[in-house]
Amino acid sequence: MKVIGILGGMSIESTIDYIKLLSKHINDKLGGQHSPKIAMKTVDFDEIEHLQHQAAWDKLGKIMAEEAKSIQNAGADFLVIATNTMHKLVPEVEQAINIPLLHIAKPTIDKIKEDGIKDIALLGTKFTMEQDFYKGRLLEANLNVIIPDETDRNEIHRIIYEELCHGKICPVSIKVFQDIIQRLADKGAKGVILGCTEIGMLVKTAPIKIYDTTAIHMEAAANLAIS
Ligand code: GLU
Repeated sequence: MKVIGILGGMSIESTIDYIKLLSKHINDKLGGQHSPKIAMKTVDFDEIEHLQHQAAWDKLGKIMAEEAKSIQNAGADFLVIATNTMHKLVPEVEQAINIPLLHIAKPTIDKIKEDGIKDIALLGTKFTMEQDFYKGRLLEANLNVIIPDETDRNEIHRIIYEELCHGKICPVSIKVFQDIIQRLADKGAKGVILGCTEIGMLVKTAPIKIYDTTAIHMEAAANLAIS
């Protein structure tokens, strides 16, 4: 079995889900007492979050590169970054390591394509919904990306950082997400990417197909680990 490198802690809430999902996949596939081999670093998310909101991406790139290198040195055979947003820094991370990176968007796009869906809604932090580093990959795959309007984007961003990253599940926010997804479905979306690793804590059902990046990323990592 390959050693799975995880760069996590962004937030720790979703990293806990990463470990649980990974363990379940590996055990479902191999049975017995099998469990994943993991080399992991977690960061202090307070520092990361402040730098994100100061747009200090150069500094964040250096931190991510250093952490990735130390995971490689700890024996990882490949790396996953346990957050969508910080995939903005994939170029800096890839430059620092010589093990492969399993990009979170790749298996997500594969699943959407398998389902024959073209019109796809994207939910995530404002960085993920508004900037090109993530949306660009979806567009390159010939998907038509539909994002919420500005008011909805602000509310999603707030709920992610003020509630979900603290492990808080508020019923009112479940309703907010349901309403936003309905509006995106009304605009033509046939599926919705939960493009933030915490959103799956809140969104369990939707009128259109759900692509939960946390679940998809870990299924792909488990498959790669035992391939
Ligand atoms: N985990 C989130 C994501 O998938 C947001 C936290 C972060 O900014 O890294 O984008």
